[in-house]
Amino acid sequence: MTKNLSFSYSKMGMYKECPQKYKFRYVHLLPEKPKYYFAFGSALHAVMEFIHNPAHTAIPTLPEALNFLDKEWNKTTFEQKGYASAAKELEGYAEGRRIVESYYAQNPALIPPPVSVEMKSTLDIDGLSLISIVDRIDYLGNGRIKILDYKTGKTVQREPDQLYMYQKVAENSPTIKALVQAKDPSIKEVRVAELSFYHLPTLTEMKFDRAPDKEIFEFWQHVLQVADKIRAGKFDPTPGENQCRWCDYRNLCPVFTGKEYTGTERRTRPQTLPPAENPLTNEQDLLSEKIDRLGQLQEEVARLQQDIQTLLEKNHFERHFGKHFKAELTNLEQTDFTDKQRVVNFLREKHLLSKVLAPTKSTVLQLLQDETVSPQIKTQLQSFIQRTKTVRLDVEKLP
Ligand code: SF4
Repeated sequence: MTKNLSFSYSKMGMYKECPQKYKFRYVHLLPEKPKYYFAFGSALHAVMEFIHNPAHTAIPTLPEALNFLDKEWNKTTFEQKGYASAAKELEGYAEGRRIVESYYAQNPALIPPPVSVEMKSTLDIDGLSLISIVDRIDYLGNGRIKILDYKTGKTVQREPDQLYMYQKVAENSPTIKALVQAKDPSIKEVRVAELSFYHLPTLTEMKFDRAPDKEIFEFWQHVLQVADKIRAGKFDPTPGENQCRWCDYRNLCPVFTGKEYTGTERRTRPQTLPPAENPLTNEQDLLSEKIDRLGQLQEEVARLQQDIQTLLEKNHFERHFGKHFKAELTNLEQTDFTDKQRVVNFLREKHLLSKVLAPTKSTVLQLLQDETVSPQIKTQLQSFIQRTKTVRLDVEKLP
């Protein structure tokens, strides 16, 4: 009998992002580097679990919740969390406190005790051992439940397919059924009535109705197709600027090395990324970050220059002073020949070529000032010159 494939929503997400990346992570068992956003998310998930733990007789107070966050946060160093510096970690911690305080301002005591929090379950179904951690399950009565998933990232908008997977798990899980029956022994069947993403940074809830059977069926077919490809060993890389830029496996990836990675497959213990390769990855990450930062600064500089110039012109100012710098506009006139050959021919025709030696813009402009040159010739010469007016903005530090 073939063993069930251990599967989860996040594994499916990684396979869809890049099958080769999935292979590095789950076949070669090479862990990724710590990511600060995962550490931040898991600290907040732990606090929410603490707040709504059904075993508590009452919701903990705000100081108790903040104290819990402190302990949770201090379990690891900033490097272990994946922050670039202790200062960045401190910013993350302050944001975590702000979120918990805002959550309490919304009065979590009004939320009835849930059926479960952070419930990890493994469901054997259709050849898969489906692992899921459902953040919160609320009981709505008559065997109906609400599944709630906390989000801590930047984006509020999400596709509901993760919740579809939870719906599939919840309605087939004997553990969830037992928990619901503990609340209401008359219940024969559990039915998901509501699905929701709860975005903690903005305290915004994105609710979805129960997914119709047809959608669940189609979603599940898609899950099974992905699982089939994994079983068949289809791990062709799908490089893309975004996913490769942040991928921890770039130094091992055939797309970048030109050769297949031959590390031992299916190790029993997780391996670490080869140490010799790591500094290169770090350097490349650093370089990418610096390029992005420089690009963003250049864009900001261009925007500021445009704003300053517009304001100076609107107010008819030539210059204006900040506390430490002054900005000044200078009108510039650029001259160019419309057709240089015609200028040369004209000067030859008028026997002026010897006078200018070489017909450059400055020598021709000198002719326009020359009192021995007739006004008619000057007018003709003027017609060969195109003048463009521009404005230059200079910003100087004040003494
Ligand atoms: S570097 Fe790109 S192509 Fe290679 S594994 Fe990572 S995401 Fe896939």
